[in-house]
Amino acid sequence: MKNYIDIGINLTNRQFQNDTDTIIQNALDNEVVQMILTGTSVQGSKTAATIAKEYPSTLFSTAGIHPHDAKSFNNQSISELRKLVQLPHVVAVGECGLDFDRDFSPRDQQEKCYRAQLALAIEVQKPLFLHERAAFTRFMGVTKDYLPQLPKAVVHCFTGTLQEAKTYLDNGFYLGFTGAISDTKRFAHLQEVVKYVPLDKIMIETDAPFMLPKNVPKTSLTKYHERRNEPAFLPYVAQTVASFKGISLEEVALATTENGKGFFEI
Ligand SMILES: [Zn+2]
Repeated sequence: MKNYIDIGINLTNRQFQNDTDTIIQNALDNEVVQMILTGTSVQGSKTAATIAKEYPSTLFSTAGIHPHDAKSFNNQSISELRKLVQLPHVVAVGECGLDFDRDFSPRDQQEKCYRAQLALAIEVQKPLFLHERAAFTRFMGVTKDYLPQLPKAVVHCFTGTLQEAKTYLDNGFYLGFTGAISDTKRFAHLQEVVKYVPLDKIMIETDAPFMLPKNVPKTSLTKYHERRNEPAFLPYVAQTVASFKGISLEEVALATTENGKGFFEI
């Protein structure tokens, strides 16, 4: 029996509406024993915390504002998040960061929202769940201002270059890998990245319902949700890590679970 921890699922996404119990049960049936629900807005973080509380020691959540949602950031946002991160089952601040790929929020607003959450993580000393897409230089520039006091941090759904991965590692960050690593057409360079990153710095996640791993057999996808990812598919991410690194699936499960437990203190 292997045990996996999915460090990032978007269970409050409308693609999972009314399916929560089934999704959790499917995950448990596939040896995914703990899951961390990603908070992407104040409201979403509240909902995630409420769901997590119903599954003690199995589900946990984060509280934060995604850069896409930075436009909703206001004077009350941080005090709302502060209340949430003080709950024992809310284990990290985030997801937060910068996303210059889609630019769903103005960049100056993204930066303001990100800085406020970095300061919050320092204040409450809880780990950070970070999101960076097409914004590496500015992201590091902003983050550097806080580095000396910064708690542990994971850059989730890493799809950047080897050089970017090296910079994150040099700063003590963990990297979270999703099914994107199995997309050898779009993200061929990630094979080299996964090979390079030490096993004790890797965590795995589905980022469900997004990022469906390419190696999930078609027969495992339900008729009505053929493109929907779910935490039950996390072992496919582990499988890709194992094959890129030339090690056993057991080793990947053991290491990533130990990393997740230590990082989130769960
Ligand atoms: Zn993200």
